[in-house]
Amino acid sequence: MYISKSFIPILKNNPSEAKIKSHQLMLRVGMIKQSAAGIYSWLPLGFKVMKKIEQVVREEQNKIGAQEILMPTIQSSEIWKESGRYEDYGEEMLRIKDRQDREMLYGPTNEELVTDIFRASIKSYKSLPQLLYHIQWKFRDEIRPRFGIMRCREFFMKDAYSFDISDEDAQFSYNKFFLSYLKTFKRLDLTAIPMAADTGPIGGNLSHEFIILAETGESKIFTDKRIFDLTAEDTKLEKNSLQDMRKKYEKYYSVTDEKFNKEEFEKKVLNENRLITKGIEVGHIFYFGDKYSKPMGASVDLPGGKKDFVKMGSYGIGVSRLVGAIIEAKYDEKSEVMKWPISVAPYDVAIIPMINKNDNSALEKANNIYLELNKNNIDSIIDDTDENFSSKIKKMNLIGAPYQIIIGKQTDDAMLEFREVGGESQKIKLKDIINKITKQKVKN
Ligand code: ATP
Ligand code: MG
Repeated sequence: MYISKSFIPILKNNPSEAKIKSHQLMLRVGMIKQSAAGIYSWLPLGFKVMKKIEQVVREEQNKIGAQEILMPTIQSSEIWKESGRYEDYGEEMLRIKDRQDREMLYGPTNEELVTDIFRASIKSYKSLPQLLYHIQWKFRDEIRPRFGIMRCREFFMKDAYSFDISDEDAQFSYNKFFLSYLKTFKRLDLTAIPMAADTGPIGGNLSHEFIILAETGESKIFTDKRIFDLTAEDTKLEKNSLQDMRKKYEKYYSVTDEKFNKEEFEKKVLNENRLITKGIEVGHIFYFGDKYSKPMGASVDLPGGKKDFVKMGSYGIGVSRLVGAIIEAKYDEKSEVMKWPISVAPYDVAIIPMINKNDNSALEKANNIYLELNKNNIDSIIDDTDENFSSKIKKMNLIGAPYQIIIGKQTDDAMLEFREVGGESQKIKLKDIINKITKQKVKN
């Protein structure tokens, strides 16, 4: 991409309406544009990042055997009346009437709709488990939308649903998602910790929130900091291995304020291990048994001839919120340097030629490098404008491609000036740059 042809509307200064750094950066580099309170358009740079996050989330869902579907955003009120949530959900639900005067709604979540899909087709225990997910826009009429896309009204969410025959099998499904969440956030270069949580309007009694630490987060958390040293890499997709992995995490006290109990915290966690801080909820998983299957009549035949209602769980990831969460974790607002993880970076490399009015040689060199990178599946962005060098660097530091190649008139074709965004330059061959970046991309 050439900066001169791109739609990346960069602002000179921080927009005053933005209170937290992710919102500031997203407006500053034109990733989003507000269209109404809590409702945003996604511009090319922001959309590219969100799509990449979506793809990481998708791959990790597929790895545990979940199947992707796509349910509509608009739902009929009938199924919500069956589950009893039409009244309960309250004002967060956007209710709409169609021209026949039928009550419709813009889905805030999909337990009812997916249960309706399930019950129409699955009749026997032999077809279980079923793990279904979709990645779709949701609408919640939040009372106080704020912080840009972090708490907005229309947002992009991955929600998955599991259907099993017994509590034990349902826990197996729950644990698969638990593992897949740890892996997803790791690929996004985030440390997300699972915390025992309340189930709220979704219902049920087993639930974990996945939280990343951030001063600007809205969740207050109380944790044993040793939980940060845990990894789940060697976990097999098998019942016992998954159960052990979850137990390993649950051994350490870690809760949000809804579940906080001072006495318990002080009894279970030594003073030196206590951490009280704030975080951003990026995912939330629930197990709620037959809360929806029973009122909605989603049952299957059991081996002995009897029938039973299926046991269900649901599993959400805030795909659009993650764009902001990654910025909160990776943006250094003092030096105004953003560094996207390579797995979701809008561009892998920024090429910054120092262009003189009467001399095109740096731009020509930049072009050749651009083509060579392209051939090797490395996505780059060139600043081909005639702005001065320091404002070019400033701009690219905000856009946040993790690597930069700087090209002057004197640049020797063999040895290029290369650096990580915000880091020290080194002289290196183009071939070695390609190898280094390709390796990084494969790892992710
Ligand atoms: P919160 O406590 O932040 O309001 P929630 O518990 O209501 O979230 P869930 O129903 O668990 O949300 O939704 C799954 C995920 O969707 C959340 O973990 C979060 O990442 C994301 N999410 C929820 N509400 C919003 C919102 N208003 N704006 C952006 N993302 C959201
Ligand atoms: Mg939640």
